[in-house]
Amino acid sequence: MNTLIQLAYFGVAVVFILGLKAMSSPVTARKGIVWAGYAMIAATLVTFYTPGMQNYGLMITAIVLGGGVAWWSGRVVKMTDMPQMVAIYNGMGGGAAAAIAALEFARGGVHSPGVATLAVLGALIGSVAFSGSCIAFAKLQGIMTKTWRLPQQNLVNIGLAALTVLLGLAIVISGAPVPALIIAFFIVALALGVILTSPIGGADMPVVISLLNAFTGLAVGFEGFVLGNPALIVAGIVVGASGTLLTQLMAKAMNRPIRNVIFTPITGEAAGGGEAIEGSMKEFSALDAASVMRYASKVIIVPGYGMAVAGAQHKVWEMAQLLEEGGVEVVFAIHPVAGRMPGHMNVLLAEAGVPYDKIFDLEEINADFPQADVALVIGANDVVNPVARTDKSSPIYGMPILNADMAQNVIVVKRGKGAGYSGIENALFYKDNCRMLYGSAQQAIGEVITHVKALEA
Ligand code: NDP
Repeated sequence: MNTLIQLAYFGVAVVFILGLKAMSSPVTARKGIVWAGYAMIAATLVTFYTPGMQNYGLMITAIVLGGGVAWWSGRVVKMTDMPQMVAIYNGMGGGAAAAIAALEFARGGVHSPGVATLAVLGALIGSVAFSGSCIAFAKLQGIMTKTWRLPQQNLVNIGLAALTVLLGLAIVISGAPVPALIIAFFIVALALGVILTSPIGGADMPVVISLLNAFTGLAVGFEGFVLGNPALIVAGIVVGASGTLLTQLMAKAMNRPIRNVIFTPITGEAAGGGEAIEGSMKEFSALDAASVMRYASKVIIVPGYGMAVAGAQHKVWEMAQLLEEGGVEVVFAIHPVAGRMPGHMNVLLAEAGVPYDKIFDLEEINADFPQADVALVIGANDVVNPVARTDKSSPIYGMPILNADMAQNVIVVKRGKGAGYSGIENALFYKDNCRMLYGSAQQAIGEVITHVKALEA
């Protein structure tokens, strides 16, 4: 029986890896998620047959409750709320890993110092991932609006981390359950997650969510060793490794070394006293926008969070197709942190049916903006804000931006004068070559479509 179980876990681990590989391309991503989901069901079922397993009632209750909540929330979540959902699910994974360690310590189930060390590491990282992800969730959900930064924040971080390691070491050395020690260890580790994540905001949020995701993977992997469960080890290591790579890619794309994300975070609060912005915002009508784009040779569309909120991706693609039928070259430029989660815009455009060869990353397209007749910015703000290049006091200074301001004409679709996620003014909107088309993205693009059609007739 044991060999069969190990073989099943091995098969599950292989499917996890194949699923993850499939997720690396938008064409096969959906398939990859379904494979990994089936593998997860198989791993859960196999666990019931593990020798010595008891408490079936509790296990089934937990699966029904957890699975039910996940099924329901997965169905009702709005696309724009996905980042906080990812954050909280990720936190649950870290919390589960920490809970495994807590139980094993409490019942004296960890015997060798080697396994105890792995359990402590998993517990530390899992606790930080759990409490840190709860804070990330609260921020993205708008429950926590203020950014807390303690005086001597970095010293406090280092002090708490050192204290947690010392307490963990004491647990390993003690070799027997000491409740006070275990409780103190978890309190400090959870506090570390809260204090580490509280000051982080703005453009750093996606990076920190990805980092916490990598933490969760590692914690699960360590606890897999403690339980001697190969599926858990492989799943954890795969999540840890891919999360680490994603974190590095995002940090690189935003020109923010990971140490800066943690030690000198962007606060996400409006910057006071930044560079004064000259010029005024000039309004454009849907007819003007339609004419400029219909008679252009090349239009680059820059979608952002506002397109997601408005659910305007289908209209945007309809407009792009109309323009193409009229001989205009239309492409899409995607910033790595556009929207509220990594890949947010890619998912929406794929859903609307935009072919992948029309979608370009920042590095691929940035040099093309000066040759574009029109950059159409739809519900994007921070990712096209030129102060990121010039204003050292700006919270987004140093973040690479899409060079929409370098296009011959810029048309910005947004509802009013609302700021972007970072809360700062956008110098692009005041430039001479920029015109504002006010309205919710879906309705504004709908009007543009009507006028483009009229121009064709
Ligand atoms: P921003 O959040 O900077 O700006 C969105 C703009 O959309 C706002 O200025 C708003 O202006 C406009 N808007 C809102 N609703 C509508 C609507 N219905 N129709 C038209 N426009 C609308 O978005 P970006 O995509 O440019 O930048 C993303 C920001 O989010 C970055 O700062 C990034 O760091 C951060 N972030 C990204 C994450 C990720 O993983 N991608 C995760 C967490 C944060 P108005 O109110 O006037 O309409």
